[in-house]
Amino acid sequence: MDNKILAEDLKTRFLRYAAVDTQSNPNTVNEMHPSTIIQLDLIHMLENELIELGLKDIEVDEHGILIAHLPSNVENVPCIGLMAHVDTADAVKGNGVKPQVIEFYEGGDITLKSGLVIKEKDNEQLKQYIGQTLITSDGTTLLGADDKAGVSEIMSAIKLLINDNSIKHGEIEIIFTCDEETGCGMDVFLYDKLHCKYCFTVDGGTRYEIEKECFNASHADITFTGKSYHTGDARGRLVNALTLVGKYISSIPQAESPEATDGRFGFYCPLSMEGSLEKATLGVFMRDFDLEQLKRREKVLVTLGSTLEVLYPGAEVKVAIRNQYYNMVEVSNKSPKVIDSIFEAGKRLGLPLFDSIIRGGTDGARMANESGIPCPNLFTGGHNFHSLSEWAALPAMVDSTNLLVEIIKIGAEK
Ligand SMILES: [Zn+2]
Repeated sequence: MDNKILAEDLKTRFLRYAAVDTQSNPNTVNEMHPSTIIQLDLIHMLENELIELGLKDIEVDEHGILIAHLPSNVENVPCIGLMAHVDTADAVKGNGVKPQVIEFYEGGDITLKSGLVIKEKDNEQLKQYIGQTLITSDGTTLLGADDKAGVSEIMSAIKLLINDNSIKHGEIEIIFTCDEETGCGMDVFLYDKLHCKYCFTVDGGTRYEIEKECFNASHADITFTGKSYHTGDARGRLVNALTLVGKYISSIPQAESPEATDGRFGFYCPLSMEGSLEKATLGVFMRDFDLEQLKRREKVLVTLGSTLEVLYPGAEVKVAIRNQYYNMVEVSNKSPKVIDSIFEAGKRLGLPLFDSIIRGGTDGARMANESGIPCPNLFTGGHNFHSLSEWAALPAMVDSTNLLVEIIKIGAEK
């Protein structure tokens, strides 16, 4: 497919998907999967489009996870997975998206219909797209390039493979998930169903950026139990759980907070608390690229608890830690060929790919950790995710799709 036709295909596809409401809801994740029924609208739209493309093996489970297979046209080649999520974040208004196409970006600031301005000085990636096509929202909602750009790129790549018989490929496993933004989409994922030996999430941002590393993540639930007495009668007897939780938080090093770190530095982040004299609870999460550093922080939180128990006789501090996900690079390092195939594909296409780290996690990180399937993350060409000033660059979407096809070709070489 020539790049002009591909760009047109990606654009119409993306506009179609972006207009479908798919916002997920972190407040209902304990009650239902997916967290919002509307996500199924896009899942079923994609299901129908895959049927129209001629795919036969398509399954949508009760949780809205779509897994489809394009059969291989060569023998003895490992199956490759391509994964993206249909939901959008709830950080800003995400439903009722009216995508706006700037066919010819002239450079400078972009003023959206709502009056909101995407400033050139805050978006240094913009200048490479002068004279090219960008897509924004009207400024009243996010755009949803995260991750409908990724969904579009996978769909266009599949269409490309189907329309061009000369491209040799192994079996392709297409995976569209719900609830990535709530972090709970993979809770109900049935890994046993998967055929793929390795997988790519198409859920990154900046053109040419390849992400193979993410944080290790754990969460601590800390319970402070004090001893309540009438305050007029409390001397030497009252142990105030709220005092304990205050001391606890103030002992966590401020230099290891999200607001004081970047790059490869990890952190602690207190994110919820509740309490009374008698009992208080605190939630803290920890993040680090280095597992040893994460374990060190976990130990610090446990030690802080027992220190408070010594300092305040009668106090009880319980620290319960659970892991959330691990740095996916550990799994990728076991199969270096997967990362190599991305960069080889970039070289063949003349795309200056570079690798980068995610200060967060992806569904791919969970897949890597929970199933051992390597799952690096590829760029989509979207920017300013989870905000009203989100935008996507069509040329980067073309590059992303071509990269997928080239990786698949390399996967079929002996
Ligand atoms: Zn995403």
